[in-house]
Amino acid sequence: MKFAERISLLGTETAFEVLAKAQALERTGKKIIHLEIGEPDFDTPPHIIEAGKKALDEGYTHYGPSAGMFELREAIVKEMARSRGLSTSIENIVVTPGGKPIMFFVLLALAQKGDEVIYPNPGFSIYESVIRFVGATPIPIPLREDLDFRLDVTELKDLVTDRTKLIIMNSPQNPTGGILPMEDINAIAQIAIENKIPVLSDEIYSRILYEGEFASISACDGMEDLLIILEGFSKTYAMTGWRIGYGVMPVDLAAHITRLMTNSNSCTASFTQRAALSALNGPQDAVEAMVSEFRKRRDFFVKGLNEIQGISCAAPKGAFYLFPNITGLGRSSKEIADYFLNEGGIAALAGPDFGAYGEGFLRFSYATSLENIQKALERIGYCASKLRG
Ligand code: PLP
Repeated sequence: MKFAERISLLGTETAFEVLAKAQALERTGKKIIHLEIGEPDFDTPPHIIEAGKKALDEGYTHYGPSAGMFELREAIVKEMARSRGLSTSIENIVVTPGGKPIMFFVLLALAQKGDEVIYPNPGFSIYESVIRFVGATPIPIPLREDLDFRLDVTELKDLVTDRTKLIIMNSPQNPTGGILPMEDINAIAQIAIENKIPVLSDEIYSRILYEGEFASISACDGMEDLLIILEGFSKTYAMTGWRIGYGVMPVDLAAHITRLMTNSNSCTASFTQRAALSALNGPQDAVEAMVSEFRKRRDFFVKGLNEIQGISCAAPKGAFYLFPNITGLGRSSKEIADYFLNEGGIAALAGPDFGAYGEGFLRFSYATSLENIQKALERIGYCASKLRG
């Protein structure tokens, strides 16, 4: 078969590759602790599962509107008002099978050959992959440990050119767990408004926050025509496998994204949308319980890592990842990740899997039990002592 050139531009999410490698080792009898995959280890709350089952019984087994069911989009409008004080209408909302398609579709709609897109690095690997796929040039804005993984706003200003078609931001962040304070967000909005550049704000971890209030760029005046919010249910309600997320955006863009939905998925699964409706309208205590459990694991894991010579780890403020500095172990991130997997049975991701500025770091997901984290710390300590010689 002869493939179109564009297909070679598409990157991937290494987590799935590391998972496959780890599973191959498990088949040989090796015990692996999985710290690679970015999904809550909790089950979807029972009332949401019930709503999904009931929807199937009630016949939500047919196609629905490409932009999403009216009732769900209405609930999202209310959620935007509740969580962000943002005034929207259902014409601003498009429901998609996960938050990921919002990235994909927004880039297809806004960027092409000759254009530039600024994105966080280290950052979610799909940003860079899809920017390249649509033919645009990825322009990384570094997130540095010495700035608490915030971006340097002056540096951002310098990266903007007349070819910049989109700025992607993410807070709380994958993979660093860092957050952007309102001061930085205001400065990003200022740059976007002055240069009339749309901003895709990936807010998928908005509810998984350990310090302070969630800050969204939607609070900045003047962003109405430039703002695209990516949100979803995967992380907040442990619904990764249900495949449901959404975007909030100006009406003209929403019409294009809806047509992309019609051309690709037709619609998001109808019963999944009913389950998502119950997630938004139902009790939120499961979300609070999950975050409180994540906080315990974070504190325990960070403390344990900082006791290992050669590793230092800042406490992340959101999401469920640690991004420890492992330069003290004297090898590249990739070599250390491979060593940890093969010698220690620890599946983790190398910082550069999230972009070149991730060198010197690993990403551990703490979406696993305290017991596993305890075992992982012992094995990491052992591997680190071997590497130090
Ligand atoms: N954005 C970020 C930063 C993520 O880490 C993820 C998933 O890992 C997503 C978006 C997409 O999530 P989903 O498509 O499951 O809603």
